[in-house]
Amino acid sequence: MTYTECYRRARDTLRRAGVESPAFDAMCLFEKAFGLDRAGLAVHGPQEAPPAGAQALEAWAARRAAHEPLQYLLGEWEFYGRRFAVGEGVLIPRPETELLVDAAKEALGGRLPPGGCLLDLCAGTGAVGISLAALFPQARVLCLERYPGALRYLRENLRRAGLANASAVEGDAFAPPQDLPPLCALVSNPPYVRRGELPRLQEEVRREPATALDGGEDGLAFYRAIASLWMPRLLPGGVLAVETGEDQAAQVAALFAAHGLCGAQVREDAAGLPRVVCGRMPEEPPGTGKNS
Ligand code: GLN
Repeated sequence: MTYTECYRRARDTLRRAGVESPAFDAMCLFEKAFGLDRAGLAVHGPQEAPPAGAQALEAWAARRAAHEPLQYLLGEWEFYGRRFAVGEGVLIPRPETELLVDAAKEALGGRLPPGGCLLDLCAGTGAVGISLAALFPQARVLCLERYPGALRYLRENLRRAGLANASAVEGDAFAPPQDLPPLCALVSNPPYVRRGELPRLQEEVRREPATALDGGEDGLAFYRAIASLWMPRLLPGGVLAVETGEDQAAQVAALFAAHGLCGAQVREDAAGLPRVVCGRMPEEPPGTGKNS
């Protein structure tokens, strides 16, 4: 079989299976199988393809046709200009989550003191925490994750990034470890899908761990935990930034404001959907201000 035939076969398999972007996915798998990109395919298309690559591509296309996520088959995915290891057991980094990194970056500006601690809660692959650790080399970034299936990828991604200022912490969002330093910032893309909606998610998304998606009955369980258990860990002036579901941002902003967050702002993603809530703790705890 020629390279062109291999590519077309994979693409047609995906198309018949109703995969959303068959040509793109087939090209990604083709590249993984042969180390050739679209330009390489154009140049070498009529040549005979190595049989081992052809077999691998056919097997991957069959798995993709059965709705295994493309990112799991590729084993890595790009987020904020860096490749992250992904696979079964961990949430795939989404493009809209880059907005969470941008919001935290802007809110922190030059305000993160040397050694100041930033915590990425429900870190998953570590995409958010590692991106911020690279942006703020003077800060100390802790990536907290509960599930072993995700911790495996988090540790691998920390190793790959090779940043001296980022590390993994095993822990539970509903039982914050006692020995954490006070936080200059907390960022989180927690599970926020309403439990009743989980069975209706796209088949690919249902292959991702339910523990990374399930936000309880109303999808807000983790935001309540953040408000009551984690906001008290933030230093005066500390930054809080979270991703939310598109119909949750206003409620989450109100919840955080009720727990003392100042200037809570909702930011919209590239699709124009409310996606990130960001604010700051008061500079002085109530009652201890100079004028009170
Ligand atoms: N954005 C994901 C989805 O739409 C949900 C991720 C999350 O719960 N944090 O499936």
